[in-house]
Amino acid sequence: MKPAIRNLRDMRPRFKVADCAASGRFGRAAVAIAVIGAAAALAAPSGIAGRRHDRPVPILMYHVIAAPPAGVAFPELFVRPADFAKQMKWLAHQGFHAVTLREVYEYWLTGSPLPRRAVVISFDDGYLSQATEAMPVLRKLHWPGVLNLKVNAVQKFNLPLWRVRALIAAKWEIDAHTITHPDLTTVDDARLWQEVHGSRVEIRKMLHVPVEFFCYPSGRYNAHVIDAVRRAGYWGATTTNYGLASPAKPYELSRVRINGSDGLAGFAHKLESVAP
Ligand SMILES: [Zn+2]
Repeated sequence: MKPAIRNLRDMRPRFKVADCAASGRFGRAAVAIAVIGAAAALAAPSGIAGRRHDRPVPILMYHVIAAPPAGVAFPELFVRPADFAKQMKWLAHQGFHAVTLREVYEYWLTGSPLPRRAVVISFDDGYLSQATEAMPVLRKLHWPGVLNLKVNAVQKFNLPLWRVRALIAAKWEIDAHTITHPDLTTVDDARLWQEVHGSRVEIRKMLHVPVEFFCYPSGRYNAHVIDAVRRAGYWGATTTNYGLASPAKPYELSRVRINGSDGLAGFAHKLESVAP
């Protein structure tokens, strides 16, 4: 039994020539990764080799980086900018280094270098404060963020396109989070495909980035939704399941939800519990 290798093979992206042509240098890089990954998997003599690069990684989940307005429905989705800055400083002090999901995936697939204490800092939906508050803090640390972008967030100008381009210039990864944020377990197949595949097409067209990962709205998914995500060509997907992300389940990557009430102490406790 070689569970690690088999999982990595499952993760190997399936590329079409048209995709590569469409995504330019990203496509070519991805093909190179796939080829190296395949070679590594074939050359691995035992399960032990596969295990050298299957370390789980914490993916933090943030929403709005602002004080919660009085009477707001979900105050826990708001993390104060001062708290966010302290949390990032704490991570740096503890020896953490932020990376993109793509870097984690490449490490899992090929064993490419990853900082010993890697962490992914993900932001859901696309709020202006993610660009105005979170990005400057991360930029000072030379850290990328990961934006799970709901296409409508840009189209309705909650987050202007130029702001998203500024995130990309600051090395952020843009991943897909549907177009309208429905519960994907309740929509029909045509709508499911439009939200899952259509959001990837839209973001690629809008921003010319590869969009290799997907994030389930409100953490809602089932086997049918996962199948659509796979078929749309994504390499993996993030959930709201609590815990570390592991290569055993690339389409069910767990995350660590950061709440407004966590402050620094709660944040440190979460990180120390999940990634000692
Ligand atoms: Zn969301």
